[in-house]
Amino acid sequence: MPGQEAYVTLVTNDNYALGALALGRSLRDTLTTRRLSLLITDEVSYPMRERLGVLWDELTVVDLLDSGDEDRLALLTRPELGVTFSKLHAWKLTQYSKCVFLDADTLVLENVDELFDREELSAAPDIGWPDCFNSGVFVFEPSVDTYTNLLEMAKQTGSFDGGDQGLLNLYWPDWATKDIKFHLPFIYNMVPNAAYGYAPAFLRFGRNAKIIHFIGAVKPWHHQYVPGVDAVVLTPGSYSSTSAAYDFIKLWWQAYNRTCEVSFIPLHNKTFEKQIVA
Ligand code: UDP
Ligand code: MN
Repeated sequence: MPGQEAYVTLVTNDNYALGALALGRSLRDTLTTRRLSLLITDEVSYPMRERLGVLWDELTVVDLLDSGDEDRLALLTRPELGVTFSKLHAWKLTQYSKCVFLDADTLVLENVDELFDREELSAAPDIGWPDCFNSGVFVFEPSVDTYTNLLEMAKQTGSFDGGDQGLLNLYWPDWATKDIKFHLPFIYNMVPNAAYGYAPAFLRFGRNAKIIHFIGAVKPWHHQYVPGVDAVVLTPGSYSSTSAAYDFIKLWWQAYNRTCEVSFIPLHNKTFEKQIVA
């Protein structure tokens, strides 16, 4: 039943929360019938929680989980990604039978509720290593057992990249070969970088993209939006202003700007549940 299914994201600070605002707005625009469930950590400020609560049905405060694996993260040159282990809390949302996890740096362009027809663990290939799935968009089925097993694996084996993606790929090691039904089409996790990797394919299929994923250290909210002329000034060195990525970054800003128009509902209308990690 749709009421028992949800889109889920995670934000551990007010920075990534900007992503969850635009993502929440973009999901609402698709008239989804599913719930929007947001995991936050203590660091997210109260004014920001109020803004998030306008768009997300449920905010759950979770403890920060950190892989602490600095060596491996250094390989990725993304030391901040250890906190992505906090994603594992999503498996504790057992009030839902099925969820779609979306990174806070994704943007939904049209209704993707058909993703709930998929089973755990469904995801799209990673562009860096396509035999691994990218953990920015995935279908999963909450279960305390799975949560416990993932945490156990995190302690015993760790993650080969120091972040959640390395761990999840170790937990579902046969994703690439088990059954094609677990492979989400790339249009559900389209990275603008693909425009450079395979330009003709991007020209041919790019317009079919349903979910855009802004991977990498520079996120849409790091660029500057110029109101009035509806333009974005890109952070130097990140993308060219004539690239396809520019159009997607602008779409992100348009969604974000629409979150600033609504009047805020009082905080006490939302429940904040503190979950303790075993
Ligand atoms: N995240 C977060 N705080 C951080 C880093 C990451 O909340 O400091 C969450 C957020 O949902 C983010 C996801 O973890 O989208 C994965 O990180 P990111 O998207 O930066 O990784 P990338 O997609 O660039 O590999
Ligand atoms: Mn991401």
